[in-house]
Amino acid sequence: MELYRLTAHEIHQLLQKKEVSSEEVTMSVISRIEEVEPKVNGYIETTFDPALDTARAVDKRIARGDEIRPLTGIPIAIKDNMCTQGIKTTCSSRTLHNFIPPYDATVVKRLKEVDAVIIGKTNMDEFAMGSSTETSFYGPTRNPCNLDYVPGGTSGGSAAVVAAHETIIALGSDTGGSIRQPASFCGVVGLKPTYGRVSRFGLIAYASSFDQIGPVTKDVTDAALLMKVISGYDSADSTSVKNDVPDYLNYLEEDLKNIKIGIPIEYFAEGIDPEVKSAVLQAINLISGIGAQCENISMPHTEYAIPCYYILVTSEASSNLARYDGVQYGLRKEEKNLIGMYRATRSEGFGDEVKRRIMLGTYALSAGYYDAYYLKAQKVRTLIKQDFDKAFEKYDALITPVSPFPAFKIGEKMNDPLQMYLADIYTVTINLAGVPAISIPCGFSKDGLPIGLQIVCKPFDEHTLFKIAFALEKSLGRAKK
Ligand code: GLN
Repeated sequence: MELYRLTAHEIHQLLQKKEVSSEEVTMSVISRIEEVEPKVNGYIETTFDPALDTARAVDKRIARGDEIRPLTGIPIAIKDNMCTQGIKTTCSSRTLHNFIPPYDATVVKRLKEVDAVIIGKTNMDEFAMGSSTETSFYGPTRNPCNLDYVPGGTSGGSAAVVAAHETIIALGSDTGGSIRQPASFCGVVGLKPTYGRVSRFGLIAYASSFDQIGPVTKDVTDAALLMKVISGYDSADSTSVKNDVPDYLNYLEEDLKNIKIGIPIEYFAEGIDPEVKSAVLQAINLISGIGAQCENISMPHTEYAIPCYYILVTSEASSNLARYDGVQYGLRKEEKNLIGMYRATRSEGFGDEVKRRIMLGTYALSAGYYDAYYLKAQKVRTLIKQDFDKAFEKYDALITPVSPFPAFKIGEKMNDPLQMYLADIYTVTINLAGVPAISIPCGFSKDGLPIGLQIVCKPFDEHTLFKIAFALEKSLGRAKK
């Protein structure tokens, strides 16, 4: 049996019945990585030895008859912007190429508490800025569905290693679509939780009022299992929220009667690829067929989302990245004086896209322009959030495409940052409003590239997301490769 092809919930059953061991599962994933990783480049670093130590320790516990949790003994890949104690954490940047964190991010700590098997750190766009995983200092990741194409970004490494079966599950982070868009490009499931649901402690900051960590998995059930482990209040993150974390699995089988779904017309307007539009509309038909009521709605401020998002995230990034000065972390270029050292360190440490964003953000925050750009964008953010509040007065969920087009070719948009920014048109609104959204596969283009759809719910209603996503997944069949 090719164990690496299984989902976490399938492996959990086999572990419980003692039909396979965690070591066998881990070995199977390791040999898969050795086979396909030279083509995919989804990992920055693998951690086979500690992974096998954890797996063997789990097997001993199972042999002793101990109870195991759903993710115990399951291989997981972690995006390289989450701190892992004693394991290099680079954010795919030269700046942090030698940074070894002295502590674990809270999500990593929680995974270790259930004895999940950390198999490696995944490639990403530098500091999570981009939409294609091409801005990585370690070279681009390739889409396992077609190696000439990007896997999406910035959690392109996580989505690619899940799709290529180089892990069983993975964690990504999402500031403006970085979990959902790569999930849709690679034909896997990705969830951006409500802002505050998952602790950001130990997540290297890009835009702190947008960033959230979430699951990237082969199916909806695995996403629900992983969410249960990583969610919940953390005193180390002042923006994490003290809400109970439901057992998401209990909601999966519920029917969709009485569920009302809004279809925002602005997400199907000009610019959308006809194949994407038709795949998403077909799925909406399917969902109406299984009990949900779907109606068109308008979210009038959607057109301002991209400029609003890029002003706010670059502003936050310019402030967050000020800490990489050659004094505290990572790269340091010695020069004759302090200013020279700062300049050399930052100009050699950061890539072009990161520098572009620091400049944009610094400009938007500067004294003469703050009111015209940053403050105005904050007000627009509130209007966009109000579009969602209003929609959720009447609807339980919204369904939209994830990306206007399927995966594009490597290199196709690298020289045109504006085109790259437009790839995020349907995902950034979700982070501006702080609401949760899941991306699930809903079809393929004629070139065989996966297409995803996005389900959006009210804050802390992830259980409704799972319920709708699970019903749709059942009707659509899991995207097979
Ligand atoms: N593509 C978006 C950006 O570059 C989203 C990135 C993300 O979600 N980390 O900002």
